[in-house]
Amino acid sequence: MSILLTGGTGYIGSHTAVELINAGYDIVIADNLSNSEAVVIDYIETITKKRPKFYQADVCDKAQLEKIFDENKITAVLHFAGYKAVGESVSEPIKYYRNNLDSAITLLEVMQSAGCNQFIFSSSATVYGTGATVPYKEEMPTGHCANPYGWTKYMIEQILTDAAKANNNLSVVLLRYFNPVGAHESGLIGEKPVGVPNNLMPYITQTAAGMRDHLSVFGNDYDTKDGTGVRDFIHVVDLAKGHVKALEYANKNLGCEVFNLGTGTGYSVLDLVNTFMEVNGINIPYEIAPRRAGDIATSYANATKAKEKLGWQAQLGLKEMCKDAWNFQKNCK
Ligand code: NAD
Ligand code: UDP
Repeated sequence: MSILLTGGTGYIGSHTAVELINAGYDIVIADNLSNSEAVVIDYIETITKKRPKFYQADVCDKAQLEKIFDENKITAVLHFAGYKAVGESVSEPIKYYRNNLDSAITLLEVMQSAGCNQFIFSSSATVYGTGATVPYKEEMPTGHCANPYGWTKYMIEQILTDAAKANNNLSVVLLRYFNPVGAHESGLIGEKPVGVPNNLMPYITQTAAGMRDHLSVFGNDYDTKDGTGVRDFIHVVDLAKGHVKALEYANKNLGCEVFNLGTGTGYSVLDLVNTFMEVNGINIPYEIAPRRAGDIATSYANATKAKEKLGWQAQLGLKEMCKDAWNFQKNCK
């Protein structure tokens, strides 16, 4: 019996692979390597001493997926595969709707034929949209997404909700991630964006490494404690552990349930920059730049539902996030 991780060589998938193997699960990874490298499988093996089975496969390709389900007894799927660059989703929306929706629907169809009934989905706090008030709670209305990427998450949540309503055997867990940062303490796996990073932490680490001459802080006139944006940064290893709990939950419960995976605390962009400098003893040159289009002032989770129903709570703080992110960056080839 195995757990399938689509997108399992990516940033969050690879950390979850490690935690699942450590928890005793047999896993199979399917990834088309559009945003990751096959060498991640070697790193997962180095960390866990167990090599996951790997298929270089596109989750939108039904025949390739059927082969994976034929060759393995898959009891649950964690669906990480998808495109995630917000800016690119604005300039190339069709590419995003095609890949993100198609992969989810194809997976659901193949799972149904194979009698596999547990689906854990990588959703995002972005589904709360532009008008929501913090802290975000799972029962709040969703929608008014700021970009096509967010809409794909919103739509897939709806598709999975409907699928679970129609099939009494199906168990769906929608995980709304907040801002994952950091890396595995080994420094072997982490976030390695292609080209200029969009997200804050990889931009900080690349500035620290001398690859960028300064960080632009997008806006210092928000209604926050220091004027910069506030986010719920969560260590990727904590996030990965949340998936182990979500899988246990899906195994015991039917229907569709949604959980925030965040720490419940918001920190500002400058909190993160200052902590990074302090913990790692490195100066990060930064300049205040205009607000970035589409950004909101503040986003953080109400994290009580995951604590009560999953028995999961983030353990690691900003210091560990900054230390581990830099440790990974220094190891990057
Ligand atoms: P990532 O890009 O590192 O990983 C995604 C993986 O999916 C990549 O390895 C890529 O090669 C693969 N992939 C993409 N399309 C595929 C397809 N059609 N078939 C097979 N493989 C495919 O991204 P990540 O940060 O690990 O994110 C994982 C999931 O979590 C994504 O769905 C993302 O939208 C979601 N998410 C991420 C964040 C974040 O800040 N990183 C926040 C909220 C939600
Ligand atoms: N940010 C920034 N400079 C950067 C990248 C991001 O000031 O180079 C800010 C951004 O405006 C937001 C926060 O950092 O307030 C988190 O942005 P990120 O893109 O990492 O995640 P988001 O919350 O947008 O998903």
